[in-house]
Amino acid sequence: MKPGPFSYVLVDSVPDAVQALSRYGPDARILAGGQSLVPAMNLRLVEPRFLIDINPVRDLDYISSGPEWLAIGALTRHRTLERSETVRRLSPLLAEAVRYVGYPQVRNRGTVGGSFAHNDPSAEYPVVAVACNAQVVITGPAGNRVVPAQEFFRGYFTTALQPAELLTEVRFPAERSAGYAFLEFARRAGDFAIVTAAAMVDVDAQGRVTACRVVLGNVAGGVPYPVKAALRLVGQQLDGAVLADFAEEVRREVDPDPDGNASAAYKKQLASVLARRALELAVRRARKEGN
Ligand SMILES: Cc1cc2nc3c(=O)[nH]c(=O)nc-3n(C[C@H](O)[C@H](O)[C@H](O)COP(=O)(O)OP(=O)(O)OC[C@H]3O[C@@H](n4cnc5c(N)ncnc54)[C@H](O)[C@@H]3O)c2cc1C
Repeated sequence: MKPGPFSYVLVDSVPDAVQALSRYGPDARILAGGQSLVPAMNLRLVEPRFLIDINPVRDLDYISSGPEWLAIGALTRHRTLERSETVRRLSPLLAEAVRYVGYPQVRNRGTVGGSFAHNDPSAEYPVVAVACNAQVVITGPAGNRVVPAQEFFRGYFTTALQPAELLTEVRFPAERSAGYAFLEFARRAGDFAIVTAAAMVDVDAQGRVTACRVVLGNVAGGVPYPVKAALRLVGQQLDGAVLADFAEEVRREVDPDPDGNASAAYKKQLASVLARRALELAVRRARKEGN
């Protein structure tokens, strides 16, 4: 398989990348790690006439932290994130999820910005980003704008990015929940997930839930799905009966599309099981951290 003909444009700064995007318009695509774009080009699913390679833009490869945010540059490789002590400390949910992204070869080349911009419905980062209330920084001809993750992901392989815009940074809040968990189910380790689940939980001294967020992936039209039933758990002790009710509510609540890997009914079942397991694990961790 070979891609269609294209012109290759190498840039070494953010302004040059934005200028090239403005110049070549919707016929241009950014090339980051190439782990999603190149296979899609080889299959002729996309045929950009201009490929703007941002790999020399070193300013976009960083992990930094401040009092409010853990900031990750768009060109940061999955592998760098996976190995980062700062990420493990400030966003253990993200650190847990990155290990599920493809295989080591994919994680060595693929980038954080590329995964956000691609918005594969099975991807791990979008679910984590919505669970954490992350933000996406976008740079265009008029400057920067910041979009909450919840509004950034718009549908299958679709985001809030406009043709002349570059994703430059993602920000995760430095303040995190005590309990967290990321789980997914795939046919084989390293494959794209059929369903993903992220949970963030805080508990009080008695073990009652004080804050709870469960987000599912690949069950809601290509965007991460925040489970409504999770909000009703605040104030409760999560015993077996409450968890069983929660799992049943999730099953009723989600309405997944079938895809090449699974029927809608199978995804509903997976969503229910994974949401419950992620929640249980997050609560266990929250109680442990409180002791
Ligand atoms: C075998 C295999 C298994 C995989 N398994 C998984 C998996 O389990 N989970 C998972 O999440 N992913 C998986 N991936 C995809 C991988 O995570 C990619 O790294 C990621 O989806 C895209 O990142 P990239 O840097 O390679 O982007 P590219 O492939 O270079 O680009 C992807 C898209 O994003 C656009 N883009 C890239 N960077 C920017 C930017 N800064 N601003 C604006 N637009 C941009 C490109 O124009 C293109 O449209 C897998 C890939 C392979 C080949």
